Amino acid sequence: MNSLWSSMAKRAEPYIPGEQLNKNNILKLNTNENPYPPSPKVIEAITEEVGRNLRLYPSPTMETLRQSIGTYYGLKMENVFIGNGSDEVLAFSFMAFFEPEKEILFPNITYSFYPVYAKLFDIPYKEVKLKDDFSLDIKQFFNSKGGVIFPNPNAPTSIYLPLEHVETIVKNNPNKAVIVDEAYIDYAPESAVSLVNKYDNLLVIQTMSKSRALAGLRIGFALGNEKLIHALIRIKDSFNSYPVDRLAMAGATAAINDKPYFEETTEKIIKIRGWTTDQLEELGFQVLPSATNFVFASHQGIEAETLYKELRDKDILIRYFGKEPIDNFVRITIGTDEEMQQLIEEIKHILI
Ligand SMILES: *Cc1c(COP(=O)(O)O)cnc(C)c1O
Repeated sequence: MNSLWSSMAKRAEPYIPGEQLNKNNILKLNTNENPYPPSPKVIEAITEEVGRNLRLYPSPTMETLRQSIGTYYGLKMENVFIGNGSDEVLAFSFMAFFEPEKEILFPNITYSFYPVYAKLFDIPYKEVKLKDDFSLDIKQFFNSKGGVIFPNPNAPTSIYLPLEHVETIVKNNPNKAVIVDEAYIDYAPESAVSLVNKYDNLLVIQTMSKSRALAGLRIGFALGNEKLIHALIRIKDSFNSYPVDRLAMAGATAAINDKPYFEETTEKIIKIRGWTTDQLEELGFQVLPSATNFVFASHQGIEAETLYKELRDKDILIRYFGKEPIDNFVRITIGTDEEMQQLIEEIKHILI
């Protein structure tokens, strides 16, 4: 710290992302990236765009991409906001809908970026304890003073909250924003997008980083009532008129328009998740019921930290959080068939 630092810079407690090792032949199962490449149409669209107008600023209103996402979900362009990754959309949402002095609610085990934003923007928060089975205790989220945010499915537990429960939380927070972070919803039964036209206090946030294999492109979006979207646009335009570049917009538009490719890769991952879960259970793991592209697992016979380290020695990276009450769990991203077979083989060796 330094006397030149603002109070904001001083109180910031930055998020620590999963390791990105610069090493070949690493089996990377630690940041929930897609094991498949993005749609070939994405590469085509970006390549075309490279040869076009990089000299010119991109569209500040991002209408082509907003229109495509709107059409995909049966919404209007006015219901869609786009940002540089959903992390940026989340940050803008904290600024647009939450207030200092009004306590917001989120689960005690959840995406660790939420407390980071809350601290940065000086928003008080309460971490609501999950039930013993790691599911959300929905009544605890009623009548918040300042709003609610949670991922569905939750991360890193992988557990999905049925849509009717999401709706009950939204209904029981009149005049407060309820933000549902649906980073993994494409691997789960049902999105809350269908409720956007019914409730003016619901904001659904999604990303192209996981199910559309575009973590490197940085595209996230929010879906909500026009008035909520308008607040996000005001924040964005007070921060950076062009957070999304021309290549990202071209690629993301192609990704959302290529539904068959998306469905094929998503279905494959869901199938491999089932196989991986069965294998881990056979080896004596407790695996929480996953509706995501990762599994959250624990074993009585080996400490999570030991498993993490031993796999790391074999060049397999998984995620270990090392904090109560999930300090005996590891989070493993679902890879390809071959990658999961390799993982299971290595775990067998470690357990013997
Ligand atoms: C991955 C993830 C995000 C961030 O996604 P980006 O769009 O890559 O910024 C947001 N929320 C949750 C719960 C995630 O797991």
